[in-house]
Amino acid sequence: MTTEHVNCLIIGSGPAGYTAAIYASRAGMKPVLYQGMQPGGQLTITNEVDNFPGYPEGVNGPQMMADLEQQARRFGTDIRYGIVTAVDFSGPIHKATVDDQQEISANVVIISTGASAKWLGLPSEMRLNGLGVSACAVCDGFFFRGKDVAIVGAGDTAAEEASYLANLCRKVYMIVRRGEMRASKFMQNRVKSLPNIEILWNSETQEVIGENEVTGALVKNTVTGEERVLDISGFFVAIGHKPNTDIFKPYLEMDETGYIITEKGSTRTSVSGVFACGDAQDNIYRQAITAAGTGCMAALDAERYLAMKEVEMHAEA
Ligand code: NDP
Repeated sequence: MTTEHVNCLIIGSGPAGYTAAIYASRAGMKPVLYQGMQPGGQLTITNEVDNFPGYPEGVNGPQMMADLEQQARRFGTDIRYGIVTAVDFSGPIHKATVDDQQEISANVVIISTGASAKWLGLPSEMRLNGLGVSACAVCDGFFFRGKDVAIVGAGDTAAEEASYLANLCRKVYMIVRRGEMRASKFMQNRVKSLPNIEILWNSETQEVIGENEVTGALVKNTVTGEERVLDISGFFVAIGHKPNTDIFKPYLEMDETGYIITEKGSTRTSVSGVFACGDAQDNIYRQAITAAGTGCMAALDAERYLAMKEVEMHAEA
């Protein structure tokens, strides 16, 4: 295993990671950024971003991430393709392993690994993933124009995606596991007002049906016990997200879902010299703009930390 030492290691390439990279490079911290499994993060599977300030006409998600990457490169960030597969934060120098092959040590680490979509966990859902099963209506809804589809979930994401699908598809079944929705009243009213959305209350998916592509879903009403087969071509899952923080679990304080706990008003984690930003530490706002904001904070926190370390070193010398 080869070893390299860097000053500032940034793990993850969503709006948080790239913003941290822009600030860190401009501060002369010579950051090295590993892009991870999904370069550009969740926004690369989003079509239109309408709520990021500065884009009066909205911006396409992948384009926005390409722009952020270019901006980070412009200031000298060393952006690398690779996945950090393990870390060791037990000693004074933090270590990370890239692609199970290369070891990197760093004076400071900024974690911006984001979050990933949750799945129901049905074997049929996994088998038909990409063959009609999707966790992103905005990315894949287009393939089901004029067809019947189902979406699972009852939060704002599910409601938003159901409305989006209703514009494209003939019929949308919304599978809700309780007798009420978690989504905001506004989004609930929107869903209920669309004539081609049918809400199946108190319903659980037993199986996604299909050999090589989705042809249906078996749904059970948990109150009446009644089972029903939906004839559908697309099966969308919108039941929330899980932070991508498993590799940090042995070292950092986290909440029960795996969101990294940061000190109030900062990006400092429970380990000195390790900072966390974006969706990996945010279970409340989860927006591109808040991710970018905390990315900026992480770079500034890391810069102050390095400056303080330097003062301490000089004092000891
Ligand atoms: P949420 O956690 O808010 O909702 C997840 C939904 O999925 C819940 O209705 C939950 O049901 C359901 N669910 C979870 N697990 C299962 C399962 N195994 N089977 C069936 N259903 C399941 O996630 P969202 O992604 O919807 O939203 C995340 C955050 O982002 C929220 O704060 C939301 O308000 C925000 N958001 C805001 C938007 C906006 O303002 N435009 C758009 C999108 C998201 P149950 O209710 O029974 O727990």
